[in-house]
Amino acid sequence: MATHRLNSMEVKKMNRNAIYRYLYHRESTSIQEIAQALGLSLPTVTQNLKELQERGLIEETGLYESTGGRKAKSLACNRVAGYAVGLDVTLNHVGIVVIDLSGRIIKNVRNHYPFANEETYFRGVGKLVEDFIEACQLDRSQILGVGIALPAILSGDRQTVSYATVIDFKGGSVRRFAEYIPYPCVLSNDANAAGLTELWGEQDIHNVVYLSLNNSVGGAIIVGNQIYAGQNYRSGEFGHMTILPGGRTCYCGQKGCVDAYCTARLLSDSTGGSIVEFFRLLGEGKKEQQAIWQEYVGYLVITVNNLRMLYDCDVILGGYAGAYMEEYIDDLQALAASKNTFEQDGSYLRVCKYKLEATAVGAALELVTEFIDSI
Ligand SMILES: [Zn+2]
Repeated sequence: MATHRLNSMEVKKMNRNAIYRYLYHRESTSIQEIAQALGLSLPTVTQNLKELQERGLIEETGLYESTGGRKAKSLACNRVAGYAVGLDVTLNHVGIVVIDLSGRIIKNVRNHYPFANEETYFRGVGKLVEDFIEACQLDRSQILGVGIALPAILSGDRQTVSYATVIDFKGGSVRRFAEYIPYPCVLSNDANAAGLTELWGEQDIHNVVYLSLNNSVGGAIIVGNQIYAGQNYRSGEFGHMTILPGGRTCYCGQKGCVDAYCTARLLSDSTGGSIVEFFRLLGEGKKEQQAIWQEYVGYLVITVNNLRMLYDCDVILGGYAGAYMEEYIDDLQALAASKNTFEQDGSYLRVCKYKLEATAVGAALELVTEFIDSI
């Protein structure tokens, strides 16, 4: 690796960025705490805080109680200094969220709007976004951009779609959306976006595997807080691991894929497409749903155990089916543990924290990440 001596501008930016991140992860802090934690001098910290404050990125939140001498100012990030919009584009819907810099959802809406690879569709999405922003009454100059999550595999630069079967958008480009959305646009893979959402703000967990249980099964592998993309940007396609040789035919054409056994559709088909209704009836102890659940869980825990063996990290059950599994997590953990060669404890398995629009939030967080990096 080439060595590069940082110039004073670069050092300044690094310090400013480190100070902002330190504040970002705390409710409030003081100049003294920052200086001590980051090993910077008080004048350096003071100068940087002044700059950040002038840019509206941080604010004074009061004074610390002190036993003597001058009271220290308490400082915090201004979480509403910017907003990002996220879209979850699915076969039949467009979910839209706006989040603040902390990742908190300000507002969300889910529109029934079937995907079509046509001009009218993209113009319509632009209108949905515009109407949504209008309804949120946000200052447009504070909108960082729009993240768009797709059920598709993206090219390395994330400008185009290299593989898509759920929506007819193979070869599609971010430009199709951007033409009707007057903000910077970035694409994300849907499961990767949801996986990143789960790790957002976590300071102690850096590696997870996210198993996305939607009408198609996917996932994300996150190592050191970064998506492991793979050689062809197809990592985490857990839905197409073979779980039963010669088994049920998957939508991909192969036999015995995880998707054919763990799609959320297997649950919601028994309740007219409603996953909420499935879990309601299951909770009431309805025989039909119990039988479906039992079979489903059998394959799910094999998949989970395989993921644990491969990655040796926490496994998160996500997607809209995963979001309802909290009530059954003890059973799922016990079953997963019973398959495990090394451990008797299944606590590595958990249910996603974000139950609402995790994918759209993750798409929006891409813009927040870019913004924070740029500070
Ligand atoms: Zn398959």
